[in-house]
Amino acid sequence: MLVLKDSNLFQQLCFINGAWTGADSRETIDVTNPATGEKLGTIPKMGGAETRRAIEAANAALPKWRAKTAQERSVILRRWSELLLEHQEDLAVLMTAEQGKPLAESRGETVYAASFLEWFAEEAKRIYGDVIPPHQSDKRIVVLKEPIGVCAAITPWNFPSAMITRKAGPALAAGCTMVVKPATATPYSALALAELARRAGVPDGVFSVVTGSAAGIGGEMTANPIVRKLTFTGSTEIGKKLMAECAGTVKKVSMELGGNAPFIVFDDADIDAAIEGALISKYRNTGQTCVCTNRFLVQDGVYDRFAEKLAQAVANMKVGDGLKGETQQGPLIDMKAVEKVEEHIQDALAGGARVVTGGKRHMLGGTFFEPTVLADVKPGMLVAKEETFGPLAPLFRFKTEQEAIQMANDTEFGLAAYFYSQDVSRVWRVAEAIEYGIVGINTGLISTTVAPFGGVKESGIGREGSKYGIEDFLEVKYLCIGGV
Ligand code: ADP
Repeated sequence: MLVLKDSNLFQQLCFINGAWTGADSRETIDVTNPATGEKLGTIPKMGGAETRRAIEAANAALPKWRAKTAQERSVILRRWSELLLEHQEDLAVLMTAEQGKPLAESRGETVYAASFLEWFAEEAKRIYGDVIPPHQSDKRIVVLKEPIGVCAAITPWNFPSAMITRKAGPALAAGCTMVVKPATATPYSALALAELARRAGVPDGVFSVVTGSAAGIGGEMTANPIVRKLTFTGSTEIGKKLMAECAGTVKKVSMELGGNAPFIVFDDADIDAAIEGALISKYRNTGQTCVCTNRFLVQDGVYDRFAEKLAQAVANMKVGDGLKGETQQGPLIDMKAVEKVEEHIQDALAGGARVVTGGKRHMLGGTFFEPTVLADVKPGMLVAKEETFGPLAPLFRFKTEQEAIQMANDTEFGLAAYFYSQDVSRVWRVAEAIEYGIVGINTGLISTTVAPFGGVKESGIGREGSKYGIEDFLEVKYLCIGGV
């Protein structure tokens, strides 16, 4: 049983047009704690009809919301951000209970989530247009930046709060309204955000949260002509499907999709720093982030030393229930996630790789898995091509810089990449040669509100966070004034 200081933050209904809805829902979905398997509660299983209602409410709320001054929208967003911080502990407990990440990470994510609301509260005031010198002397040319309109968001379970505020922050700042479908595994963080939005003064219909059938809700979001933009974070597979669905009404899309992040360690790297970066980039959220390292590419000269040190550090990590003590690794989100990690390990072992540490389900049972390091992994293996999304570090060996670049780019993905080198010329050469949207150089931690997050190739379209993030929610309108 979940006990919060503010029990109203634990909502088991949907939030549509400023009201808690769905108490009479015929069907509900159970939400469980992945660390214990315990049922936390239920959520209404809603579909197309309720989503349509939320979209229509967002459309009705749009004129008033976009007509507010930037300052007025900014004050509300800032208040929303402050409320997240005031309720940090409750939000963190809720998040760990439904998602499994260690409490310290949930506290961190809550601050990260609040930071997007604060950042875009500021950016709301800096949506500048343009005046262009005209091509004819009796004309004047002005460029306006206008809100796109009603937006729909579909978000994943790995960052139950931050992936919502990273979208809702810029959308609302720009003057758009939004309907969110959170991941079914982690709806309570989203519903708590809705409760805090209400308290902050976000008007009815401006921000709604609908839980339930992915296909039903997603289908309505992508087909309804009122929706002008879909912003999605999740797998490349579902992203492609949603893009195809959006084609019918030519919606704008932002896509934050899968990755296959390389982490390159050159012979000239500071190995201790690389180990520290490796732990953060690989094992944060038990390997379940789209910027988690998927492949360690290690140069011949330091391969054995790196493998040994990494294995030592990994073997010392504390696995357990995120709500208890000093846990560093929580459970995986579900059994399917466990099976994927196992499949990748088995495939690698069959091809000649070896286990350096870990390698199997954890004795705690459930969806707990031992943090694992594999050595002698080769390019043809599954781990080289697919995102593992779990606590598995496969170590590949390379000889030359050119070979490392070729291996790093040998994937259809292009979200985050990392590399460690102390040679400044090499740093520039490699940074420019790798095809990724985000490059961590001598660091394993790249996510921040102030920098543009997003991928190239099949990892996505658009950027989130930073001054660039608001552009994705703006249309450019050009006024040509004649006869001056
Ligand atoms: P993940 O591997 O992170 O679960 P998914 O792409 O499966 O990635 O899910 C991300 C989000 O997309 C979740 O909110 C999920 O419910 C939603 N989703 C999954 N399938 C569909 C679909 N067919 N239509 C719309 N949304 C979907």
